[in-house]
Amino acid sequence: MAKLQSPRGTTDLLPDVMNGHRHVTDTARSASLSFGYEEMATPIFEFTEVFARPLGEASDVVSKETYSFADRGGDSLTLRPEGTAGAVRALISAGLTQTLPQKYFYAGPMFRYERPQKGRMRQFHQIGVELLGVSSAIGDAEVIALGHMILNQLGVATDCVLHLNTLGDTASRSAYRQALVDYLSDHKTALSADSQRRLDLNPLRILDSKDAGDQAILVNAPDLSDYLNSLSQDHFAATRSFLDVIKIPYHINSRLVRGLDYYGHTTFEFITDALGAQGTVMAGGRYDGLASMLGGGEVSGVGWAAGIERLAMLSDIPPLKPVDVMMIGMSDAHMATLFRLAMPLRDHGLRIETAYATNLGKQMKRANRLRSRYVVILGDDEAARNVVMLRSMADGQQSEIAIDDLASHFMSPIV
Ligand code: ATP
Ligand code: MG
Repeated sequence: MAKLQSPRGTTDLLPDVMNGHRHVTDTARSASLSFGYEEMATPIFEFTEVFARPLGEASDVVSKETYSFADRGGDSLTLRPEGTAGAVRALISAGLTQTLPQKYFYAGPMFRYERPQKGRMRQFHQIGVELLGVSSAIGDAEVIALGHMILNQLGVATDCVLHLNTLGDTASRSAYRQALVDYLSDHKTALSADSQRRLDLNPLRILDSKDAGDQAILVNAPDLSDYLNSLSQDHFAATRSFLDVIKIPYHINSRLVRGLDYYGHTTFEFITDALGAQGTVMAGGRYDGLASMLGGGEVSGVGWAAGIERLAMLSDIPPLKPVDVMMIGMSDAHMATLFRLAMPLRDHGLRIETAYATNLGKQMKRANRLRSRYVVILGDDEAARNVVMLRSMADGQQSEIAIDDLASHFMSPIV
């Protein structure tokens, strides 16, 4: 049998890694709450149409990246590749489209069949927020401000540049799409195979191509900003002025697209060059067309998602909380005594380890490895006098403490 390992593109979140993920998620959750975004979760899998319909068969995600399967009842299901479609589906399912705005934060695993590399996994994890039912520009600015605050609290904001663009409203976008298709059609044979395919299905996505040949052709392509009607220009100007009010710097990038039909107006990405090719840590935009594609009527939406793996790689992660006390009993009876004494201390919130064996040397080694602040030792000699030996691992100081005083000693605020 081949060596057992997790499937390609997946990884185990062992405690050290999990600690980094939790730091990112906890930071994001509390920042989100400070803006009034409350946590919610949708199922890990949905009916395939929840993603296929809005994302479009033409999108990269649906055409190449989804994990879809028929379940035993014959339903076609898809592991969620992203969080927005599910969140909007949930809003509609719960009948909340008349109770707006709704403000959601989520965190959890996403699944895409991709070529794994650093910062690109098949099972990866995202945090994200969705603001549903707000069509005005303050909503666009609010989700960006929240994203920026999270990056700032994680200590990575200075490593990231906010790229900002507008795709305009539907009318502006279709005028531009036509101009872009006209231009690119003249260069069709020089485009990459992927971009040739996108020319009919999803031409805006070509702007996002990483192919050098495509890039060269795009230099002279028409610019979306020349096709914006006044409504689209006003929305973008208002978004920018809200960002200016709170002094969030941005870089206008007229090539920044989302490539999904339901995105319009604002798009943005926080990009770093500290992670090599996988530089986008947070990406989002306005998706006013999504709810109606899912059959929920007109509901405005704007939000973003960020890769937890990429954020954890950039952040300084505080180490796991060390052990407060390691308790070592030198016989089974003494182990039982310590097992009992540990309970109220744990209940009080302290992190207590009770040794699983009576070998003092080995247990002291383990106490060191766990960075335990104190060790308590109970042997025959101590038991006879109703005391325990208390050793401070910081300075090696030892003292005896009456068994009856142990709880109050550790529960008093000075320790
Ligand atoms: P890319 O152009 O890198 O493929 P994308 O447009 O597919 O990105 P989004 O769908 O916007 O990415 O996802 C938002 C964020 O989620 C990304 O900016 C990134 O941080 C993270 N992310 C996306 N796909 C992956 C993945 N396969 N592995 C790890 N993180 C990912
Ligand atoms: Mg992708």
